[in-house]
Amino acid sequence: MEALSQSFNQTLESLTGHPTPAHILYANLDTSKLTYAEQLWVQWYQYWGNPVIATGVMSFLLHEIVYFGRSIPWMIIDAMPSMRKYKLQPNYVPTLADQWRCTRLVLLSHFTVELPQIWSFHPICEYFGMTTHEVPFPSWTKMVWQIALFFVFEDAFHYWAHRTMHFGPLYKHIHKLHHEYVAPFGLAAEYAHPLEVLVLGMGTIGGPFLLCAFTKDLHILTVYIWVILRLFQAVDAHSGYDFPISLHNWIPFWAGADHHDYHHMAFLGCYSTSFRWWDHFLGTDRGYQRVRAKQKAQKLRAEADELDKYAASLKIQRE
Ligand SMILES: [Zn+2]
Ligand SMILES: [Zn+2]
Repeated sequence: MEALSQSFNQTLESLTGHPTPAHILYANLDTSKLTYAEQLWVQWYQYWGNPVIATGVMSFLLHEIVYFGRSIPWMIIDAMPSMRKYKLQPNYVPTLADQWRCTRLVLLSHFTVELPQIWSFHPICEYFGMTTHEVPFPSWTKMVWQIALFFVFEDAFHYWAHRTMHFGPLYKHIHKLHHEYVAPFGLAAEYAHPLEVLVLGMGTIGGPFLLCAFTKDLHILTVYIWVILRLFQAVDAHSGYDFPISLHNWIPFWAGADHHDYHHMAFLGCYSTSFRWWDHFLGTDRGYQRVRAKQKAQKLRAEADELDKYAASLKIQRE
């Protein structure tokens, strides 16, 4: 049995190309100076032994837990009729069948297209000089500016890649699938052709690899925090809801669901992910501006009509 497990480990090591097990990587580590989170990090790598597997499993679990975990609150909100007044397209509410259909395709894509890539994630990170199993973690100030850079890079990459995908044959054969839902919902964020997931995923992971290639100063934990924020952004942008507390009502250049919901409704314009500046400066948000201005005017008119009716009823009561 032991011989079998040993040969399995050897096969894994030859496949992953990472022959250094965790107990050697941490051989001279003084854990007494580490924070609790850093100690947990070390324990995780020690538990799996092989760093490639440890990074792969963590990356995969992180994606699944955050993507589906973030979609659950939106499913609950969809089931609450009292929330309809915040829905951007209130006439379209996803059914359970829609949600199940999305879940199936997303899971299929995660287990077929993504899993093999995750296998090679650790070696690629090391190739670019990213720190992975290492502790201590970088300072939070460094993490903040690096993540801010990733947001700006991803937004620019996504704008151009997404806009290109609306070009005839690319739209017909690849991007059309993502546009199946005219009124999107949280789980539909990754409802897309595997090629699209691959290309647009480059915007998410390309920033960290580029920064790493130039500075050799990036920890994988920073990348994980960035990926979590990016997943939140993607699921929320597809939620179909705009609340008074929604981020774009506080940060005017944040795109949010209001921006991306229009893209699904109109098929054209509003191509970016996190920010509004590319669409604004290149004029691809003109249709969006027109539609939203019209909706605002209609709302104001309806409110004025209500007030008129109320004033008329008061007048009748007095007479
Ligand atoms: Zn599109
Ligand atoms: Zn979308």
